[in-house]
Amino acid sequence: MTTTRFAPSPTGHIHVGNLRTALMNFLVARKGNGKFILRIDDTDPERSRNEFADAIKEDLEWLGLHWDREERQSRRLDRYSEAAARLRDAGRLYEAFETPVELDLKRKKQRNIGRPPVYDRAALAVSASERERLRSERGNGVWRFKLDHERIEWVDGILGGTSIDASSVSDPVLIRRDGQVLYTLASVADDIDMHVTHVVRGSDHVTNTATQIQIARALGGKVPEFAHHSLLVGPDGGNLSKRLGALSIRKLREQGVEPMALLSLMARLGSSDGIELFGNMEDMIKAFDISRFGVSATRFASRDLLPLTARHLQKLDYAAVKDRVARAGVPNELGERFWMVSRDNITTMDDIGMWWGLCSEGAEPVIDDEDREFVAEALKLLPDGPYDSATWANWTKEVKRATGRKGRGLFMPLRKALTGMSQGPEMSDLMPLLQVIRAKS
Ligand code: GLU
Repeated sequence: MTTTRFAPSPTGHIHVGNLRTALMNFLVARKGNGKFILRIDDTDPERSRNEFADAIKEDLEWLGLHWDREERQSRRLDRYSEAAARLRDAGRLYEAFETPVELDLKRKKQRNIGRPPVYDRAALAVSASERERLRSERGNGVWRFKLDHERIEWVDGILGGTSIDASSVSDPVLIRRDGQVLYTLASVADDIDMHVTHVVRGSDHVTNTATQIQIARALGGKVPEFAHHSLLVGPDGGNLSKRLGALSIRKLREQGVEPMALLSLMARLGSSDGIELFGNMEDMIKAFDISRFGVSATRFASRDLLPLTARHLQKLDYAAVKDRVARAGVPNELGERFWMVSRDNITTMDDIGMWWGLCSEGAEPVIDDEDREFVAEALKLLPDGPYDSATWANWTKEVKRATGRKGRGLFMPLRKALTGMSQGPEMSDLMPLLQVIRAKS
């Protein structure tokens, strides 16, 4: 069965970059009628926070990316110790005592002579007695995974045939000096235990994947299928990482972006298919094809989200927004009529507050000097409310007869006097919603 996981570290709020990973994993699972696991990668006690784990869950719920199972790495530390023991027994883990400063120096020297900064495995040559001495002097070392120096190959769901020469990569540290198992091992142990079949993640993980393939094999596990999506860049092609704070899911939500607009954009951005606004999750799942995604960096502009949000809202029936309309203060009996009139004239749901304010409290009239007499005369002909859908046609017909004005010269000054704006919904639709007309008082 297809099983995927989204594995955020709870060290901050998730942003559009994380969302891309989450969505792709979600869609792969749903397309394969499989399972989507939310795995909280909280092995780092100093940086992980419960509030962030909760916030991530809240954001995913809001997006509608529901998971079938939740896992937490911090509850699985025993499993990681077992996996480490297995690797140690197989002779694939070795202890290394170099300090960060020493390692840095080694890398500098390698760079100076034009060599890639790959760990030189000096620890492997250290004798048992020397190791004892180092341990008593420096305390525990870190534990590194001894890579097989072969070409590690896989067929990537996005990148296609991919290979990395293991000798160009440092033996990864799997266990820290303080005994804490690192993500590189924890993730492989989890993917095996949880029967993860497909891993979709950013292309910054490609080297990790190579080493994790060897670790999985060393643990006797099945290697999942991998797909690495390109990273997002700003609209100008520049690095997005500094702007990611402003592109957190919660900030976008505060700005009124709707989940379906955000998901629709993310389901297509960077693929060879055009952006399509999906009406529901089922359609998005059906249309999703990971092989359509490209290798080059993907440009993301948050300004694209508002027009998509507006288009999404225009398609929603009243039933889909009933509660939100009621929360804006619109009485139930007017709710449906109000929504059908206002939905074409809003960018985000916040804008309905403005329209309801205009209907319930009346708009500050805008009357140009040359129209002052005309508007005064017209308003005398406007009966008292409540109004219905025939009011506008009847009233303007009478005003036309009385004043001789027609067309734009007739309609526009009246619209501005009643709504304070030169555009908006059809006036015949709006009239029945106007509870107060300030220009009249
Ligand atoms: N916690 C890792 C990250 O956020 C997960 C990477 C993975 O998908 O394996 O980068």
